[in-house]
Amino acid sequence: MNQTQLRGPGVDVKQTSEVKCEKCDNVTFNQGVFLRKVSALVNPEGRDAYLPIPTFYCTSCGNVNEEFIPTELKNKIQLV
Ligand SMILES: [Zn+2]
Repeated sequence: MNQTQLRGPGVDVKQTSEVKCEKCDNVTFNQGVFLRKVSALVNPEGRDAYLPIPTFYCTSCGNVNEEFIPTELKNKIQLV
């Protein structure tokens, strides 16, 4: 099997572009999640809960690239 076919249906890795950490130029990432606390007041189940939103962070410095932050969160999360 051709290794380049493994990334996704119909996508050739040669047609993709490299993603680098915006802070340190590292090219490997781990998957993490943003956790949003759901207040009992707005949760249909009536209790506090946590909503995980998947993202990727740099394995070297821990930075989350701007492009991996959901638009809805960009205005609410303070990036240090
Ligand atoms: Zn980094």
